[in-house]
Amino acid sequence: QEGPKSFLEPLNPASTVKKVIGIVSGKGGVGKSLVTTMMAVRMSSKGYKTAILDADITGPSIPKAFGITDSGVGMTPNGLMIPATTSTGIEVMSANLVLDHETDPVIWRGPVIAGAVKQFWQEALWENIDYMFVDMPPGTGDVPLTVFQSLPVDGILIVTSPQELVSMIVAKAVNMAKKMNVPILGLVENMSYLNCPDCGKKISVFGESHIDEVGKTHDLPILAKIPIDPKIASAVDSGTVEYLEAPWLDEAVLAAEKA
Ligand code: ADP
Repeated sequence: QEGPKSFLEPLNPASTVKKVIGIVSGKGGVGKSLVTTMMAVRMSSKGYKTAILDADITGPSIPKAFGITDSGVGMTPNGLMIPATTSTGIEVMSANLVLDHETDPVIWRGPVIAGAVKQFWQEALWENIDYMFVDMPPGTGDVPLTVFQSLPVDGILIVTSPQELVSMIVAKAVNMAKKMNVPILGLVENMSYLNCPDCGKKISVFGESHIDEVGKTHDLPILAKIPIDPKIASAVDSGTVEYLEAPWLDEAVLAAEKA
């Protein structure tokens, strides 16, 4: 990378990644991995060569969502890690793929986590990737900040859910992005509402959402409102996210294309 990003870690000479989009959230469990996964699925189905770097090292859930179970990361003769490939051709690097047992707990501290992410970025073979989506460590503290400092992120999506103190989380994420001089593409609200299966009405399970006001305050677009849907949970559980339709990400996909 050149110009203002030159302080960042360079890729190995065999790799090219055109755009890097980071997905952040205030805490775990709000759907950051789901958004990362489905953005990759949508961009891949549009014909872009797509990759996911699972930087959520202590809670790596990306491989399972794609049904990748064997921890088989190969090596090139030059010692580069070869990412796993999903059935539709999305390339994935995740701590789960390099641990001996998927269930091994990862209890590393911040600097080690950031080091692992840096290794996934620098020491894997990322061949002609158009879009890389990075599932960031949850939160806006030191760990995600350090990860941000080691990757040339072109844009950020912030995932929130109506259960949270959204205004505070977005304010923190905006500060983090400013520090890094990375543009925020917009906000994605997950678990926004539930479609009543009987009457079709939208039920605000967690009370009225404040995402629209928060978006206005920070001059950020609301790119998606994702419903709570058992189909989503079961696709993630069964490793079949590539067959899940995600029409709710249309605007986020357009924003990523413009990043
Ligand atoms: P995070 O990455 O923020 O920790 P995940 O994306 O792993 O969160 O989501 C947490 C859990 O909630 C997962 O089991 C996922 O399948 C489920 N989930 C996320 N979003 C939805 C949704 N909109 N509807 C139903 N289940 C969801």
